[in-house]
Amino acid sequence: MDLLKTLVDKGLRRETPTREEALAVLATSDDDLLEVVTAAGRVRRHWFGRRVKLNYLVNLKSGLCPEDCSYCSQRLGSEAGILKYSWLKPDQASEAAAAGLAGGAKRVCLVASGRGPTDKDVDRVSETIRTIKEQHEDVEVCACLGLLSDGQAERLRAAGADAYNHNLNTSEATYGDITTTHTYADRVDTVRKAHAAGLSACSGLIAGMGETDEDLVDVVFSLRELDPDSVPVNFLIPFEGTPLGKEWNLTPQRCLRILAMVRFVCPDVEVRIAGGREVHLRTLQPLALHLANSIFLGDYLTSEGQAGKADLEMIADAGFEVEGTDQVTLPEHRAGGCHPGEGGGCGSASAATPEAGEPRTDLVAVRRRGAGTDLAPNA
Ligand code: SF4
Repeated sequence: MDLLKTLVDKGLRRETPTREEALAVLATSDDDLLEVVTAAGRVRRHWFGRRVKLNYLVNLKSGLCPEDCSYCSQRLGSEAGILKYSWLKPDQASEAAAAGLAGGAKRVCLVASGRGPTDKDVDRVSETIRTIKEQHEDVEVCACLGLLSDGQAERLRAAGADAYNHNLNTSEATYGDITTTHTYADRVDTVRKAHAAGLSACSGLIAGMGETDEDLVDVVFSLRELDPDSVPVNFLIPFEGTPLGKEWNLTPQRCLRILAMVRFVCPDVEVRIAGGREVHLRTLQPLALHLANSIFLGDYLTSEGQAGKADLEMIADAGFEVEGTDQVTLPEHRAGGCHPGEGGGCGSASAATPEAGEPRTDLVAVRRRGAGTDLAPNA
């Protein structure tokens, strides 16, 4: 296919595809799917070899958020039966992080619900970062605390944070349909603040919220312009009790096309498969490793992922290798970046092939283990 040849050539040169080319990837048929994966896989291997970076989420503060992001189980008014707790203490967070690091994770993502941190919250998280770094010197720490005020990114950097995550989530044109309590511009501003403070910026999207192909291409082109070092691609987990709880409109094939498009537009960036991997890619997860070079190990913020052991087996079976702490994630020309951003259980599958759009609530398991509970975390 001429389209794919062009996109591979551009990806190897770090040249931006046209919008039409990106849209054409999303419009390819299932018959062409393996050709699309093969082509985007060439770009992925050129920049990242067969390495898979593992990241581990620690939810420092869960639920009770005053914001109204429609996709989020922690939003104002959410009726999802998630765990709710206030700030973990530094030692508790470090203990949770240790489980992921023992499983092979290289980056720990410290996440807190809320609009953004107060200065006291930044103190608290700074203490947590220092505690984790004292106990695990090679770890990369990414903070994800919401909208940042002036000076907060610099303070997190000084405390040892390597990266900051804040997702754009969807296109500027549709942002107001998803969230009303803050704006797309607020989000862009926080990513810029992180960048300016010398933190490795991490910013991505959520697919499956009812957006058009144009919206998806818009948000990915906006991300390319912001130039984060990592781009998490979430697939909406339609939590019952949230406004988007009925949005079951992704197929595994669609997820692969989205990941391929992101890889072609952001060829040399760490593309991470984030929440919804198990729920929406299901048995096609291993194919997605040919497109993304990074995943979360184990559980997500408020839902359970497949067992960490299953993640590691999948990586080995698919012929990939877990990236070590002695390996640099990003290509050399991105040296300014970081060197040292929800899912469901793999429970019993229905024998019948589900139609796209058919709810698969059986695949969504609210997290009951790990941080904020007495049960051991999954890693
Ligand atoms: S995404 Fe963040 S800001 Fe939005 S409702 Fe969820 S926790 Fe709050």
